[in-house]
Amino acid sequence: MRIAVVGTGYVGLVTGSCFADLGNIVTCVDVDKKKIQDLKKGIVPIFEPGLEEVVRRNKNQRLLFTTDLAKAVQEADFIFIAVSTPPGKGGEADISNVKAVARGIAKSINGYKIIINKSTVPIGMGDVVTQIIKQNGPEDVSFDVVSNPEFLREGSAVMDLIKPERVVIGATRRSAAQKVAEIYKPLHCPILITDLKSAEMIKYASNAFLATKISFVNEISNLCDKVGADIQQVTKGMSYDSRIGNQFLNAGLGFGGSCFPKDVSALVDIGKKNGYPFRILPQVLAINHFQRLAYVAKVRKVLGPLKGKTLAVWGLSFKPNTDDLREAPSLTILPFLSAAGAKVRAYDPVTNEKAKEIFKKVKFFSSPYETARGADAVLVLTEWNEFKQVDFQKLKMLMKRPVLIDGRNMYEPQEMVEKGFAYTGMGRGEVLNF
Ligand code: NAD
Repeated sequence: MRIAVVGTGYVGLVTGSCFADLGNIVTCVDVDKKKIQDLKKGIVPIFEPGLEEVVRRNKNQRLLFTTDLAKAVQEADFIFIAVSTPPGKGGEADISNVKAVARGIAKSINGYKIIINKSTVPIGMGDVVTQIIKQNGPEDVSFDVVSNPEFLREGSAVMDLIKPERVVIGATRRSAAQKVAEIYKPLHCPILITDLKSAEMIKYASNAFLATKISFVNEISNLCDKVGADIQQVTKGMSYDSRIGNQFLNAGLGFGGSCFPKDVSALVDIGKKNGYPFRILPQVLAINHFQRLAYVAKVRKVLGPLKGKTLAVWGLSFKPNTDDLREAPSLTILPFLSAAGAKVRAYDPVTNEKAKEIFKKVKFFSSPYETARGADAVLVLTEWNEFKQVDFQKLKMLMKRPVLIDGRNMYEPQEMVEKGFAYTGMGRGEVLNF
């Protein structure tokens, strides 16, 4: 099939290259000239496991890169829109990029096309795209607008794209949805066909539900700290109930990334604009913000005044296996530590370079051990695999004081105490061994 994917970011690039891998002819379009130039040379601008390989395998054969939207539209039968929809000032989804692409499609459309919205957009956006193309495009050209929300997770995006748990396709005309379903057929996954608005709502409802689950667990974990219960044992006990399940029950520093915070805010905004002010979702966001402040308070409680203290931060990205720093807890936590007068040293396996641009007061190192040299405490902010197997004896020797403040519950409190560390996690009771 001939496919154009407009927007070559985390979603667009993974979608485009995986569709090419399935044998389709795909043109990825972006307004970012540098990104397109790099991709033409085989330089993949994001860190996503397995992606570079898929891009290299298909580049110049079935996978092309361009800034020329008109040509890509004219040569494609299917046009996926995968541009960013960042949060606006009031938390609403900023849909200006999607509208710009719709106008671009209208100008160059030269025959029947299926336009598929993969960007996360407010409910009703499918109709807006239809209107824009009708108003700005030629009268005699027919098209369908379809919603196909994306559920991939950064860090496992390639696998999620080729082994999706479900594909949702919303359309006014079922025949258009069925044609889009053909693209996914080789993946042998459940495909749900709905109306346009329901598909758009499924994406928001799913992300808001998952974010709610995280905030709920974080609230329980904060109470665990106060009453002396252990959140790990509590969530394990909860997870045997199949109605609850065992996913997304990790207490920690809250959700981040480019999706959950912005999509929950956008859903709150959609609710307000449609006369349904959500009660639960503003609290989900508030709890998430509080969780980062609670962690800073924990650091202060353990170490006392932070002025002059040396803190080694392990992990900066919003979750492991990604270089994405958008809405990462580190963005809130590090400025607090620096403002309190702490000397902050940091290490992240992949985001050091990006992070240097953001955290001007922080010193960066190329290994977790070097970061910990002379530190009053190690602060774990992202649960990267390489922090699992640590040589704790070596770490202890390097640190000024062996203190671990584990924002991701990577370690077992008693084991850390046995290794001679003062330890505190999230929702795991009192600070041990201090
Ligand atoms: P991103 O910021 O990584 O990439 C977006 C790309 O779109 C950028 O390269 C940008 O230059 C390009 N772009 C912006 N305006 C353009 C235009 N007018 N024409 C052509 N290109 C344009 O964003 P992303 O993370 O890939 O997210 C894209 C959409 O998918 C968003 O709506 C997001 O909410 C949704 N989504 C993201 C994820 C995720 O994990 N990142 C998962 C599911 C859904």
